[in-house]
Amino acid sequence: MAWHTRTAAEVAAELTTDPRSGLDDAEAARRLASHGPNALPEGRRRSPIRMLLAQFTDLMVLVLLAAAVISGAIGEPKDTVAIVAIVVLNALLGFVQDYRAERALAALKAMAAPQAYVRRAAGDRRISASEVVPGDLVLLEAGNVVPADLRLVVLTHLRIDESALTGESAPVDKVTDPLSDAELPLGDRRNMAYRGTVVTYGRAAGVAIATGLQTELGRIGSLLRDQGEVQAPLQRRLARFARLLAVVILALCAVIFGVGLLRGVEPVLMLLTAVSLAVAAIPEALPAVVTVSLALGARRMAARNALIRRLPAVEALGSVTVICSDKTGTLTANRMRVRALRATGALGRAPSPSDGAGAPPSLLRAMALCNDARRGPDGVVEGDPTEAALFEAAADAGYEKAALERTMPRLAEIPFSSERATMTTLHRDGGGVVAFTKGAPERVIPMCTGPATASGTIAEAEEMAADGLRVLAVASRDFPDVPDDVSPQPIETDLTFLGLVGLLDAPRPEARAAVNECKAAGIRVVMITGDHPATAAAIARQLGIMEHGDRIVSGPELARLSAEALGRAVDEARVYARVAPEQKLEIVKALQERGQIVAMTGDGVNDAPALQRADIGVAMGRSGSDVAREAGSMVLLDDDFATIVAAVREGRRIYDNIRRFVRYILTCNSAEIWTLFLAPFLGLPLPLLPIHILWINLVTDGLPGLALAVEPEERNVMARPPRPPDESMLAGGLWQDALVIGLLMGGTTLFTLDWAFRTGHGHWQSMTFTVLTLSQLGNALAVRSERDSTFSLGFFSNLPLLATVAFTVVLQMATLYVPALNRVFKTQPLSARELAICVAVSTIGFLAVECEKLLVRRGILYRNET
Ligand code: ATP
Repeated sequence: MAWHTRTAAEVAAELTTDPRSGLDDAEAARRLASHGPNALPEGRRRSPIRMLLAQFTDLMVLVLLAAAVISGAIGEPKDTVAIVAIVVLNALLGFVQDYRAERALAALKAMAAPQAYVRRAAGDRRISASEVVPGDLVLLEAGNVVPADLRLVVLTHLRIDESALTGESAPVDKVTDPLSDAELPLGDRRNMAYRGTVVTYGRAAGVAIATGLQTELGRIGSLLRDQGEVQAPLQRRLARFARLLAVVILALCAVIFGVGLLRGVEPVLMLLTAVSLAVAAIPEALPAVVTVSLALGARRMAARNALIRRLPAVEALGSVTVICSDKTGTLTANRMRVRALRATGALGRAPSPSDGAGAPPSLLRAMALCNDARRGPDGVVEGDPTEAALFEAAADAGYEKAALERTMPRLAEIPFSSERATMTTLHRDGGGVVAFTKGAPERVIPMCTGPATASGTIAEAEEMAADGLRVLAVASRDFPDVPDDVSPQPIETDLTFLGLVGLLDAPRPEARAAVNECKAAGIRVVMITGDHPATAAAIARQLGIMEHGDRIVSGPELARLSAEALGRAVDEARVYARVAPEQKLEIVKALQERGQIVAMTGDGVNDAPALQRADIGVAMGRSGSDVAREAGSMVLLDDDFATIVAAVREGRRIYDNIRRFVRYILTCNSAEIWTLFLAPFLGLPLPLLPIHILWINLVTDGLPGLALAVEPEERNVMARPPRPPDESMLAGGLWQDALVIGLLMGGTTLFTLDWAFRTGHGHWQSMTFTVLTLSQLGNALAVRSERDSTFSLGFFSNLPLLATVAFTVVLQMATLYVPALNRVFKTQPLSARELAICVAVSTIGFLAVECEKLLVRRGILYRNET
């Protein structure tokens, strides 16, 4: 239907809705049931069955299963059953992990779901965008992503960026009148707003005429398909590493197989041994482990109010070197109070907060009327905090907006934008019209005529700003009637200055500690604000962001800098004031060119490019616009700076834990490979049977490995510099360490084997099996820290790890002492003496790692720490 050719009333009648009050909730619920949710199909969700099957699709696992079946057919079917059981158990473990990760990601996605503001019979309210139904009256303001296709019915200066739909990058000015040509292309249907486009300016209400797949965006659905989860750089690097390792391990397995054959071991057994080793030692699960760690970490962060929208952000958080933060609302509490009122020189500072008594009526009237805040049903003032403060100060002095509006209704307006830092409203005033303008003093005062333009007024404003106050200048102008052209140029000129208002927005109490934490962690905190430099500097000093001699750069100054000077400036500046949102992008770029990893906060429409460009775009969950939220890789649900720092901390912990896991797995695998590889060269028999290898790797390694992911953060997690972003996961000698410690563990295992074999212990294979398992458990305890001794960490500080280690010991003992398992594992019960020897020998690896850490702590052994 050509909705754009109909009048608003016709559209409303067609959709049986009221263009002023919208639908009632019952009707909306009915329509939701009949039309379905306002959602577009997402990328494929993996069903649990698929996830389970995927666990078995690995080529090596298939080869192993085939080999097990063949060996079962010619040899003992019991072996086959046992091997299949272990592989299934391992697959279940993998599945549970994958499933948890998927669930965590789905939950995060649901939390980040877009919202819409609708007018229903019972009042205006925010709902999930998926609940919008045809006929709903949707309210739009700058920063919104349009939630459905709308026929606009009321608007003020609405401008929409439709590039997502039409490719046209210049925003379109919208109208409400019907258009005559039914065949107009989408981009010319100026009384419509389409799903997925972005409101860049102004305000409007529109009736939803299509939702979900019926929208224009839904129809070109292919465009929208989820781009899929972006892989974290870490995942990519580890996948590459795992592939490389796979080749090396396959080659080693081939050697082990060949040598075994030469020594006359039965070919099927040797094949099964080599394949088991390959399956066990190739860490193909590494990238998956990373996903799981990142996803579960993201869920923890969400519980602390940092909602991760893109998984790679978790990794990047750990290497952030600069946090650029907005001032208002992030570093400050965003609870503004009028602290000072000065009218045309006649008044001193108001004695108490928000005390407007004694201020001239024209100033108070302007404060109340040139204001979009409103009193909610519960008496609380809602709206932008700056405006709410003005609203309250005026109301306290007896100038309640609603009462004033009865005689002085708003006739027109020029909305506020950060670029202009000014707003104007026009009101009926007796027989004529009055315009009230308020905004940044250096913008508004030059618009005024008369004595107020004197530099004295500006100096006065600066003096107030130096106390940390946000200062607004207020002015007015009379007109005989509403001018034809309600735009800044003709209206905001020849104004009469009314006064200055100073608002205090105190720093958040927790922000100062968070800034200090950043300093210790080698992270620079930079404040970026639209406020006046003096206001910004005062607050920055209180927070410890700026110290004596630190540089402030203002937006206009920034605009004049050459590329080279800009580079220098971003090195030095701690505060940017009067910055236009577009300049944030330049700041991010310049910092990145200097090698910094930048987290940048933002809330407005124009912040989106900077958020996208930053390594971590941090959007405000409360005060932020939809656009900013969609551009950010992280959303702060509480808008609090301290939450960013908490997220960085968590990001570092997660990275450490992934590294711990990698170290653990590599060391264990190398121990197994050394054992099997070296044995024939030392003239020893085949140390382990395939089932032992699989058991060690897939069961006794696996469980403690999982528990390493919940290791608490290291003591120095925020007392060390950020990790270089391109630093390999294996940096700091990790893989060399894994090889050496693995060799040591393999060596002690072979030593036990050699000794037991030569001294005629019939239980030599059970002993070998036990030593290797226990050594690896010791290793799980030792790798908990790269630096601190396991004892100083507190033996009980990672209970899940302790529990899995204890459980694994019990399992291992079961394989030795439960007769049924003896048959499956071809083990024999060890005597107390034999067991004691095994335990003693297996502590060697653990002790070696502890010694190594001791040397590192003493500074004797140098390890490039991360
Ligand atoms: P920050 O960047 O620290 O978050 P901000 O984004 O809140 O600050 P803006 O909202 O862009 O800063 O405000 C910039 C300037 O515009 C303010 O210093 C003030 O002078 C002026 N201003 C802010 N709000 C209004 C308003 N509602 N009406 C008129 N002028 C305003």
